[in-house]
Amino acid sequence: MSECVFCMIARGEIPAKVVYEDDQVLAFDDIAPQAPVHTLIIPKEHFDRMGPDVPAEVISALFTAVPKVAEAKGVAESGYRVIVNNGPDAMQTVGHLHVHVIGGKRMSHGMVHFE
Ligand code: 5GP
Ligand code: ZN
Repeated sequence: MSECVFCMIARGEIPAKVVYEDDQVLAFDDIAPQAPVHTLIIPKEHFDRMGPDVPAEVISALFTAVPKVAEAKGVAESGYRVIVNNGPDAMQTVGHLHVHVIGGKRMSHGMVHFE
């Protein structure tokens, strides 16, 4: 998966504004933020998307990082939305599992927008 853009970020081959890092995950700001805070959390190991091949420890590490990212970005109290676009119907555009942490302004109700 050497051509995967998020693998390249995980290896430090593409620069990114790193927010949090541990053994299993890396969090960095989205290149095209949809809100004042828009950070992505990825497993360092490549998985295309959420599925039965993703070990529970990886899922745990991703979601354990969420409040740490929120704290680092200053939205722990104000709140934020956590989104995983998983597969074609969800319009996943980067085929390396990632969690969006989005906040910093008030959102509308609901989270589902169809074409
Ligand atoms: P998806 O639609 O797959 O859930 O979200 C992919 C996200 O990755 C998008 O929000 C997009 O802006 C972001 N992204 C794509 N390429 C890069 C990159 O090279 N660097 C960073 N920091 N974000 C990226
Ligand atoms: Zn990858």
